[in-house]
Amino acid sequence: MVSVAEAQKIIELQDRDYGSELVPFEQTLGRILAEDLYADRDLPPCNRVTMDGIAIQYSSFEKGIRVYKVAATIAAGDAPTDITEESECVEIMTGAAMPDSTDTVVRYEDVAISNGIATITADDIRKGQNLHLKGRDKKQCDVVAKAGQVISPALISMAASVGKRELLVKKLPRVVIITTGDELVDVDEQPTPYQVRRSNSYTIKAVLAQNALPANMLHIPDDMEITRTKIKECLELYDVLLMSGGVSMGKFDYVPRVLEELGVTKLFHKVQQRPGKPFWFGKDEMGVLVFAFPGNPVSTFLCLHRYFIPWLMESKVKSRKSEVYAVLDSDVTFSAQMQYFMQVRVGVNEQGQLIAIPVEGNGSGDFANLLDSDAFMELPMGKLNFKKGEAYRIWPFKKIV
Ligand code: AMP
Ligand code: MG
Repeated sequence: MVSVAEAQKIIELQDRDYGSELVPFEQTLGRILAEDLYADRDLPPCNRVTMDGIAIQYSSFEKGIRVYKVAATIAAGDAPTDITEESECVEIMTGAAMPDSTDTVVRYEDVAISNGIATITADDIRKGQNLHLKGRDKKQCDVVAKAGQVISPALISMAASVGKRELLVKKLPRVVIITTGDELVDVDEQPTPYQVRRSNSYTIKAVLAQNALPANMLHIPDDMEITRTKIKECLELYDVLLMSGGVSMGKFDYVPRVLEELGVTKLFHKVQQRPGKPFWFGKDEMGVLVFAFPGNPVSTFLCLHRYFIPWLMESKVKSRKSEVYAVLDSDVTFSAQMQYFMQVRVGVNEQGQLIAIPVEGNGSGDFANLLDSDAFMELPMGKLNFKKGEAYRIWPFKKIV
């Protein structure tokens, strides 16, 4: 048996680098950028007009000119047309390129136009107003996005703007979710009173989807031979096996035995924690990792968030998140020599602090409780009483703000 901190350390030491790959940029949301992105030209690429109106030379306005002859009309996308006299202006639209012979845009609201003559009706005109100058945001060849960040909608927008059809992103591990148990039936089957529907596979898949990580699913009955054959196949086909069930002391819990027979080295079995104590973790000689979680739905859920997602961050498949702490909203007592992961709802108090409201549940089989909770609070081992107002780390599994 290892402590939570030891289990975390052992898993962290098994970080992997799966390299990188080119992916069409629209399909990269949530992935990790593996290259710096550069501006292929100045942003904006020209002096860009930000209001519909007329463009003039400011010096003419300073001299007192208010009436201008409209020399041309410039739409967004047009090559700009110059004025040749200071008493001329051009009508110009938002997004259009400003002619070099003008320097100030007066919006339509401050101009009266009739018969090709524009009269400025406002007094407070500033030189250079309503312009977004060439190269103001980024210069050509500037880095516009650094490698290592998670790809967001804003980054996809930037990739489109700089003409990057494909982005180099960190490669994902090939993951299979394996559930075990003779009592489990699929979602559309009618279970007997002694059976349950297989929910863990879908829970795991959904959490992985939140992390932009696809995975295949497989179910194995509690049969030693089938377990051996199927796990052997998976060790050849995948980088990571995420298993649930079959790792406890039961007569039909074959998973640890079979894994070790197949050459998967046990790095730990059992963690001093509640829920999720029977968690088994190991690797084979090719580096394939096996996270074998206890089947109780809350245990699987906790272990996934507490160990597997941080491993993804360690392996640079997901960006690192800062640690989040919350303040206990009521006293809690926990006497077992275990690190307790308590389900909590998370709110914000008047001081702007995150608060954790304990949610009573019925143990690691009570997955209905997860719907009422937002996070697990990690209450350190060896302490009996946890007081209202004390802050502890939380592991959110929902968006909390
Ligand atoms: P085990 O770890 O195999 O002893 O399973 C512990 C408990 O979790 C049992 O009550 C199982 O029925 C339940 N369980 C195991 N796997 C799943 C699953 N995929 N979906 C829902 N419940 C499960
Ligand atoms: Mg089982």
